[in-house]
Amino acid sequence: MANLGNPQETIAVLQKYNFQFQKKFGQNFLIDPHVLGKIVEAAQITKEDVVLEIGPGIGTMTQYLAESAKKVIAVEIDRNLIPILKDTLRYYDNIEIVNEDILKTDIEALSAANGGAKLKVVANLPYYITTPIMMSLLESHAPIASITVMIQKEVADRMQSGPGSKEYGSLSLGVQYYAKPELMANVPPNCFIPRPNVGSAVIHLSIYDAPPVAVKDEKLMFRLIRASFNQRRKTLQNGLNNSQELSFSKDLITEAIASLGVSPTVRGEQLSLAQFAALADYFTEHA
Ligand code: SAM
Repeated sequence: MANLGNPQETIAVLQKYNFQFQKKFGQNFLIDPHVLGKIVEAAQITKEDVVLEIGPGIGTMTQYLAESAKKVIAVEIDRNLIPILKDTLRYYDNIEIVNEDILKTDIEALSAANGGAKLKVVANLPYYITTPIMMSLLESHAPIASITVMIQKEVADRMQSGPGSKEYGSLSLGVQYYAKPELMANVPPNCFIPRPNVGSAVIHLSIYDAPPVAVKDEKLMFRLIRASFNQRRKTLQNGLNNSQELSFSKDLITEAIASLGVSPTVRGEQLSLAQFAALADYFTEHA
């Protein structure tokens, strides 16, 4: 039975090992059993599942995950946490602890070593590298079925917003090209030790087998998206003209925008993913 997850137990473990929190690793440990239960429920873990946990900390959520999953692979960067994890997780025989940076971890190999399982990623993510971690997981095309993570509330809002809203941007489109995001819970700062300065949220991403829109040149589409949101207040025409990453003529840009049937003064933040895909295809076919 999971025994961590309440403030007294966490403090006892931290004191036993004289553990010092490292700000550079974004360490805010969960101390709320209700929230831990919610994350595991949101991740829909069954005894068939191999779970990849990013940043297990002292193993609090790892215990909850190990109760529900076939196996948990827990990747932790901070080597000071490894002896603690070996202690707190000693009664479980279905947990593998890996002392590595998740950005350098070969996820494909982890899956292969586990019979090619489609992994379910679950994490209370370090907030300082949420976006790089999420985008590298998504862009890797590694065998991942879903990603259920605690992140900064503001970032969760950006991931699931659509055209016209002020949170909509490259991150929304980057995430929504690969996955269907769903906000599962809002979590206040007092559920963590130490308390973060921001509100948090649990978001669940179901990874698509194939992207929801077809595009001939994925990389070009993302260059167009970046160019459009680099200068949010400018028109799409100006954003694409001024981009260092693109070298299309002014006339071709005008034609491409007209091909969407939108106003010539449209701003990038008004375009949907399908429209960005159509824009990319226009350039691919006419450049
Ligand atoms: N899962 C624990 C919990 O919920 O209490 C800890 C969550 S804490 C927000 C983030 C964890 O990720 C820390 O244990 C930190 O050391 C670890 N971490 C930070 N950067 C990492 C990286 N690049 N790769 C793997 N783990 C990382």
